[in-house]
Amino acid sequence: MSASEPCPDAAGGGSGAAGAAAAFARFGLRRVVNAADTYTLLGGGALPAEVRAAMADAAAHHVDVAELLAATGKHLAALTHNEAALVVNGAAAGLALSVAACIAGADPAAVDRTPAHRTDRRRVVLLRCQRNPYDRAVAQAGAEVVEVGYGDATHPWQIAAELGPRTAAVVYFAGTQFERYALPLEQVVDLAHEAGVPVIVDAAAQLPPVENLWHYTGLGADLALFSGGKGLRGPQSSGLVLGRRDLVDTGRAHAYPNHAIGRTMKTSKENVLGLVAAVERALRLDWDAERARWEAQVDRVLAAVGAVPGIRAWREPTGRLGQAYPRAFFAWDGPAAAPAAELARRLADGDPAIHIGHGERGPRTAYVNPFTLDDPGELDVLLDRLVPALAGLDGGGAR
Ligand SMILES: *Cc1c(COP(=O)(O)O)cnc(C)c1O
Repeated sequence: MSASEPCPDAAGGGSGAAGAAAAFARFGLRRVVNAADTYTLLGGGALPAEVRAAMADAAAHHVDVAELLAATGKHLAALTHNEAALVVNGAAAGLALSVAACIAGADPAAVDRTPAHRTDRRRVVLLRCQRNPYDRAVAQAGAEVVEVGYGDATHPWQIAAELGPRTAAVVYFAGTQFERYALPLEQVVDLAHEAGVPVIVDAAAQLPPVENLWHYTGLGADLALFSGGKGLRGPQSSGLVLGRRDLVDTGRAHAYPNHAIGRTMKTSKENVLGLVAAVERALRLDWDAERARWEAQVDRVLAAVGAVPGIRAWREPTGRLGQAYPRAFFAWDGPAAAPAAELARRLADGDPAIHIGHGERGPRTAYVNPFTLDDPGELDVLLDRLVPALAGLDGGGAR
């Protein structure tokens, strides 16, 4: 396709799979079938046609970026039942910008000095049981990280003891894995607000359900952050900051297009309009029909892998972090059998590269996640490779 021709997929037709395969095949890259998750390493997800169309429209014109962010923020706030909204380039950027806002405020000199702004009030509380690779965005904004609680328990007094005039914010990570040993968000909000400290919720992957766009702020969180490129199925380099107007506006001062910490977190006009289209789509989507489609895919996987001797197969009702979609799990026994990590690597090393999930329920358990399998043909490709690979596990066939 020449550069001057319109992209047929962006115009609204087709599944996009063939076009995408051609776009990457040019560079000798294998097709990827993603049955694992909306992993950044796999490019997030395949974007729905209306998102691609919105991005293509935005690409054709100039716009005043500050005005674009203000206007789309107002629209997204209304759509998501929040006071205010700001499109950023991802949830991680949203976390850095939110923390910067809570530490430095909107004073131009303090914004300019961030992340080296040395106010007394720059401590940010994280729960030890929630530490994860994304929390470096907190330190990136110039915070002094204060870790509270134990690895396997958090007591209210442990949080309360660290709240005071030097605390800029509490950051809380939403999701079943993160919340297992944490206090419930409502309780953290009560403790923090008693001390006059705002709570930032990183809810990057907490969708579906779409109602989560207002759930966490409804529970009292001052800000909630979402990835655009995960459950929303928007552009990979997009994200949402939602919540209190004063804090969102302060975050705006630190964000692109201003010459501030957010300048290295630039998001494009294409990403902004792509994310708007993704949110609009998520709000009008028939999620029951989506659920039925996922359940049917899970049924197919369970029937196919469950028929392999020695394989136990079952359905889990939720995603890795508690999201509202089902997954097809399967497990096998025997010390001589290959572990799931090896099966996954073998499938990922093939052509097409097939990615399945593993690592959650023991060494010989894996799963297929239908959320990232759009095209029904992808499931055929996956099962054609997965079933024989499972059948060969026993005799060390995967070795
Ligand atoms: C994925 C993820 C992020 C990062 O989101 P991006 O939109 O890729 O920046 C942050 N926090 C958590 C908990 C995540 O799962």
